[in-house]
Amino acid sequence: MHIPELSPETYRPSMHAGIDARSVGWLGGEVPRVGQVALDLVEAMRHYSAKCYHSDGYRGVHTCEVCNKGKRATSHGEFWIEWDGIRYVLPMMIFHYIEVHGYLPPAEFLAALQRKWLNERQ
Ligand SMILES: [Zn+2]
Repeated sequence: MHIPELSPETYRPSMHAGIDARSVGWLGGEVPRVGQVALDLVEAMRHYSAKCYHSDGYRGVHTCEVCNKGKRATSHGEFWIEWDGIRYVLPMMIFHYIEVHGYLPPAEFLAALQRKWLNERQ
């Protein structure tokens, strides 16, 4: 499943009716940016993925198209991170993309995540 970064298009549009949603990390077969994600931001994403996870049932198996054929990783579901009126919608597969393929999410999203994380941990 590929959705352009920060697109208002989402995997399940009915879940976000009337919401200003942005998709992050729906890579399809290519990693658009490679880089190091700060460990505290990965921790923040893990925190919110546990807190705001939405299963999409057995039909929602996501397969990593970046991995070599035959040993592709799979995951289920998505999670949401809301900040400043925007709902970022991320696949659970994003952790695999970050940890195995060195994926670096868009700077705009990482900045929003950092502000939210700092704000909510005070
Ligand atoms: Zn992979």
